[in-house]
Amino acid sequence: MKKIFLFTIFPQFFDCFKNTGIVSRAIKRGIVSIETINIRDFATDKHKTVDDVVYGGGPGMLLKPEPIFRAYDYLVSKGHKPYILITEPWGRKFDQDFARELSEKDEILIICGRYEGIDERVKKIVNEEVSIGDFILSGGEPAALVILDAVIRLIPGVVGDRESLKVDSFSDGLLGYPNYTRPANFRGLEVPSILTSGNHKLIESWRRWESLKRTYYKRKDLLEKVNLSEDDLMMLKAIKKNISFEEFLELKKKWKKNKKEKK
Ligand code: SAH
Repeated sequence: MKKIFLFTIFPQFFDCFKNTGIVSRAIKRGIVSIETINIRDFATDKHKTVDDVVYGGGPGMLLKPEPIFRAYDYLVSKGHKPYILITEPWGRKFDQDFARELSEKDEILIICGRYEGIDERVKKIVNEEVSIGDFILSGGEPAALVILDAVIRLIPGVVGDRESLKVDSFSDGLLGYPNYTRPANFRGLEVPSILTSGNHKLIESWRRWESLKRTYYKRKDLLEKVNLSEDDLMMLKAIKKNISFEEFLELKKKWKKNKKEKK
């Protein structure tokens, strides 16, 4: 079982997440556990203080190191050795590769910041800083939710049909292809006829084409990082020339014929 720990001052933030959908099922089936640890419980003073003013001056408050270190000592004393993340706007940008790496760890701890942030000395126990994007949240909890949701669905056994993970956007470096469900004609809007043709090879080829097209138009940067086959490159060339899939199939036939004749 994968163990996920969260250090937070708002444990209730995760209740809905733990009780909903895929995550809730994964917990019930014993594939993952999510333990929220309220760092306030590890504060030592009478008022259970977790924050304090910033040295050198400046606005707002910072999370104090002591409750966090004490909560960490507690985990270690229980024999845990989690991979430790801390949410920070300047951290490593979270993406599908990062999610995949984390899905392979046995234990993960995410330390959620609040207020103006966290005392820098906490970094001593941290493996990586993580950001979910170039914007400022009021706390690390929503970031932790996003991260855990993406990670948990990659853990074997969590998503029933592993095939569905393979066709997700980013799983092979490209964006996903368009999908349709019944009815085949909705208010005059038709499903592409290829999808109802029953020709699986053609459907596969059309989906690849659409993935490449979507990636080319929406996220060109991704194309530089994927390994493209000879067929992909041929498709991409046609996409760049604004040729339709049907025209492409015709052209491909001609190319193949020419090649044979040359031989
Ligand atoms: N003073 C900080 C912002 C603090 S926001 C600064 O100058 O950047 C409060 C907390 O929210 C942070 O400590 C961090 O844990 C979390 N947070 C804010 N934006 C985030 C983001 N984009 N990704 C991950 N965590 C974020």
